[in-house]
Amino acid sequence: MEFETKCLHAGYQPGNGEPRVLPITQSTTYTYGSTEEIGKLFDLEEAGYFYTRLANPTTGAVEEKIAALEGGVGALCTASGQAATFYALLNILETGDHLISSSYIYGGTYNLFAHTFRKMGIEVTFVDQDASQAELLQAARPNTKAIFGETIANPAIKVLDQEKFAAVAKKLAIPFIIDNTFATPYFCRPFEFGADIVVHSTTKYLDGHAVQTGGVIVDGGTFDWNNGKFPQLSEPDETYHGIVYTEKFGNAAYITKARVQLMRDLGAAPAPQNSFLLNLGMETLPVRMDRHYQNALAVAEFLTKQPAVKQVYYPGLKTDENYSLAQKYVPNGLCGVISVEFAAGKKAAAKWLDTLKLVSLEVHVADIRTCALHPATSTHRQLTDEELLQAGISPGLVRLSCGIENVNDILADLQQAFDKLEG
Ligand SMILES: *Cc1c(COP(=O)(O)O)cnc(C)c1O
Repeated sequence: MEFETKCLHAGYQPGNGEPRVLPITQSTTYTYGSTEEIGKLFDLEEAGYFYTRLANPTTGAVEEKIAALEGGVGALCTASGQAATFYALLNILETGDHLISSSYIYGGTYNLFAHTFRKMGIEVTFVDQDASQAELLQAARPNTKAIFGETIANPAIKVLDQEKFAAVAKKLAIPFIIDNTFATPYFCRPFEFGADIVVHSTTKYLDGHAVQTGGVIVDGGTFDWNNGKFPQLSEPDETYHGIVYTEKFGNAAYITKARVQLMRDLGAAPAPQNSFLLNLGMETLPVRMDRHYQNALAVAEFLTKQPAVKQVYYPGLKTDENYSLAQKYVPNGLCGVISVEFAAGKKAAAKWLDTLKLVSLEVHVADIRTCALHPATSTHRQLTDEELLQAGISPGLVRLSCGIENVNDILADLQQAFDKLEG
């Protein structure tokens, strides 16, 4: 099946007389005829549903669809993108381990790494993703267990050189984990560039309608966990009578462990209703993304012509410093999100935002409705000025998320706000 077809048909193929639309299995539990059958499920001897925290038919269909879209061997849905990133790393990192991360990442991920991980005894080194391979390797330690970045960084809108990160990961025999939220698998499939694990906030484009929060971890199935660095996967798990994930589950060891161990113990499972809504959104992903991209490109071009604007960050623009990286990694289109820096700084940015009418002020991005946000006073509010600059955010930076309205209406609203700014 081609990508667009998978968006509609992967994960759920009804049989005779079954619902055409993926049904919501709104049930926490599932019945069996004997204790022996249930016992087999608990021993991981047989696959099957027994409790919705671990697996649910509606969520399972969505997981299968996302794995198919990314080209992975399996996926695990979580209750939010934050939970997905957390579990993806906690699945292989423990106290005393070290992580290398691009500094251009989502504010919530930055907080998780810089503060919560530190409390857990996991150290993180933030690197400039534009540094050379040799410089990136200098950040490595004997206890480094993963390298992390975002396909298109939120909110800096920088494109990651994935092959460079993959090469660093290969040299260190560690996985390259990438957050593909802003590109979506429609525009970029990081497994094709050497990523090992993909995470998403499905709250954003995969859903697209701003109706559910969710996350997903996708396993590429190609990383060799048996290299001595990952005993969590290659040595017995006493909580399952000593099973060894790499032996029992082969190339699905990582994603199976995340489900049967982390989801069992930590429990950030999505609601079946939310999985249903996410599935509805994904059915139209390709159509929406093409329009987000067309609108954003037109808006970005318009913004570059405004005297009040100091800089527009959108790698679809030929003048953007990441244009050539975008041509390589996201050649068919980009997200709808643009970052705009106001020449007169924070006050001008705030005034412009306050006069927008159609475009709403929201703590959200990647919605079908155009929305805008001021990171320095919202999502990235907890960061110090120094941390803000390291994450590519200046006080006058506005994150504009272009929706799928008629672009003329978006442009007219932005124009009237610029007119008021000058007046
Ligand atoms: C929003 C976002 C997250 C966090 O996801 P939630 O669903 O809000 O928990 C992680 N990464 C990126 C790139 C995001 O935009």
